[in-house]
Amino acid sequence: MEVLSRILKKIEDCVLLRGCHVGPSNSIGVRISYLLFADDTILFCDASREQLLSIRLALTCFQAFTGLKVNVGKSEIVPVGEVGNLDALATILCCRVGSLPMKYLGMPLGTPYKTTSMWNPILERMEKKLSGWKRIYLLKGGRLTLVKSTLSCLPTFYLSLFFIPVAVADRLEWIQRNFLWGTSEECFKYSLVAWEKVCFPIETGGLGIRKLVHFNKALLGKWLWRFGQEETCLWRRVIAYKYGEGQGGWTTKLCRRAHGRGLWRGIHDGWESFSKHMALVVGNGTCILFWHDKWVGDNSLKGFILSCMDFHERELEDAYSFLECIQPQIPRGGGSDTSHWCLKRNGKFDTRSYYNTIRGAAVSIFPWKGVWKAKITKRVAFFMWTAVHRQIPTLDNFILRGRILVNWCCLCHRNEEIVDHLLLHCPIAHSLWVYMFQIFGTQWVMPSSVESLVYCWSFWLGKLNSNIWNMVPGCLMWIVWTKRNWRSIEDTEKSLV
Ligand SMILES: [Zn+2]
Repeated sequence: MEVLSRILKKIEDCVLLRGCHVGPSNSIGVRISYLLFADDTILFCDASREQLLSIRLALTCFQAFTGLKVNVGKSEIVPVGEVGNLDALATILCCRVGSLPMKYLGMPLGTPYKTTSMWNPILERMEKKLSGWKRIYLLKGGRLTLVKSTLSCLPTFYLSLFFIPVAVADRLEWIQRNFLWGTSEECFKYSLVAWEKVCFPIETGGLGIRKLVHFNKALLGKWLWRFGQEETCLWRRVIAYKYGEGQGGWTTKLCRRAHGRGLWRGIHDGWESFSKHMALVVGNGTCILFWHDKWVGDNSLKGFILSCMDFHERELEDAYSFLECIQPQIPRGGGSDTSHWCLKRNGKFDTRSYYNTIRGAAVSIFPWKGVWKAKITKRVAFFMWTAVHRQIPTLDNFILRGRILVNWCCLCHRNEEIVDHLLLHCPIAHSLWVYMFQIFGTQWVMPSSVESLVYCWSFWLGKLNSNIWNMVPGCLMWIVWTKRNWRSIEDTEKSLV
């Protein structure tokens, strides 16, 4: 490709290929004649017979120099705007005529801003994957692994570049949710735990599945960060000329006009939220606005003064503290200004830190180590996770969802079937817990809820001796649950031992 690049550069220098101009017509702007990526090439030219003949000449020279053949069968000529003599121009290059919008390197090109149809390939791919998996009997643990590893990753390629409409995100999450809980067209299953909770991090009681709208915002934040860092890169120069630089060159001006198809507009919409977490480090001060930018502490100078100074009572004292505060920040001509990402100690942008901040911290405390760190199967851990949330499909939960049922515990035939009763306090379950305490030679007062039990239980014997101890709650509750299902669903009786 180096050879082709040189040939194209040569004909560009000789003004035989004019390329496309980005920026206001009265400015130098950026002129792009060709883009090369791996073995793909995009050429930009005017709708002129002479320029197309130059391109044909360049391709012929390339074939003669390298012995490689240009596959015109795979090539297309695509008009941008009104082009009259398109067929005649296509004949020069012996290629097909294409049109926008189209796909290039697997990504949509020329698709309107915020359109939902652009996401159809992702939806189709996700549904295709699912139809293959439907034929396989999958347990909850396996389903969770597939949702996290495959379904969640499918749209990442798109999410890192395009703004996702809420309707599309909802649809994708609906597919994920149905797959996780086993709902299909033929069979309805209850979502045992709310999707909001499922999307919490594991440490705060969720399954660590990402919320797509927030994840999209965090991924697009990468471009906002790179805009302030990669001053000489071609993509940055194109965006800067197209929209104009704003705010000292850290981003562009507001994208109000319907420029092109609005790819950058979708990214730039996140600037307000993004910039709250970005501080500026003063070098020579040329890219920093003295009054409005955040270069003193966590606030702009304007905000700092308005919040700190009381001009009526403590004028002198506040003036000193203000001077002390800005003294270390005064520009001393030491290199260029730089940006600092406040959510990471090293000051470098990171998608994870931004995502965690956008998603917001979940305040709930959850005994996640007792659930996920115990050496039990994923299926049992998933059951335990649901039980800690008090959402296993017991009769009380069915009644809460509007089913009319008689609530009674099929193990003891005395109490109502409530999660904590069934797994902890039911006489049959309790006898198993007592038996287990005897084996370990310990005394234990049974807590009131499954959550409290798992919270107190994990690593009670110390880190070194707790491997088997930590497995007990999951295994024991699973045994009780299986026994309960034999009795209530299959109407059979099997020994617990
Ligand atoms: Zn009972």
